[in-house]
Amino acid sequence: MASFTRRGWFGLAAAVTLARPGALRAAPDRKLNIVVTGGHPGDPEYGCGGTVARYTGLGHAVTLLYLNRGDVRCPAIDYEHDNAPRVLEARAACEILKARPVFADQCDGHAIVDADRYDRFRRLLEQQNPDIVFTHWLIDNHRDHRAIANLTYDTWVKNKKFALYFYEVSDGEDTQMFSPGDYVDVTGVEERKRAACYAHASQSPQRYYPLQDEVAKFRGLESGFARAEAFRHHSPSAPGFLP
Ligand SMILES: [Zn+2]
Repeated sequence: MASFTRRGWFGLAAAVTLARPGALRAAPDRKLNIVVTGGHPGDPEYGCGGTVARYTGLGHAVTLLYLNRGDVRCPAIDYEHDNAPRVLEARAACEILKARPVFADQCDGHAIVDADRYDRFRRLLEQQNPDIVFTHWLIDNHRDHRAIANLTYDTWVKNKKFALYFYEVSDGEDTQMFSPGDYVDVTGVEERKRAACYAHASQSPQRYYPLQDEVAKFRGLESGFARAEAFRHHSPSAPGFLP
């Protein structure tokens, strides 16, 4: 296949995905940059860990962009050399998934969404040069989830450069009224997803992972797999690629 520019590749995607505009199943001919934004260390892993493992298994680059470091004290420290427990957990989880962690500079439970934070977050997200971005569903109970979903969505509104998907976590406790349109088979990578979620050992994975795994089994029932992760594509954004 001839090499496509980004516009050309997405144009091809648009042409072949009329039935399901959110998902292009044919593999692209180049390495993609994928970013999963999450309110806290662990959210991208729970909502998208299997999909991340499948992307990285195909050679694509995945960044997990956390809004904060899971620290309510939010000390002014050197982010690059932060060895706080939850940062170490996030690094371990990313290593399992072959992803790269990046932290925005907000505080756990105290997310700020204002003009300055929109601009700062947009710069950080644009620095990752993403082709595809996943973020929380906008109707999540946790303020930090809604905050980063808004910050992420605002970046798309400003630049309209990437495909945008929404994901679910801890349905009922967090995500509400989620109605997915695209599914990824994560049956074969469940063990790695589980290990990445359990890497967040301080966050009660023995309670939260079984809940999320129930969601994966239910989404699997909907889509014909043993386990699946489900997403909602933002239809005005570019068509994406799901593994
Ligand atoms: Zn969270």
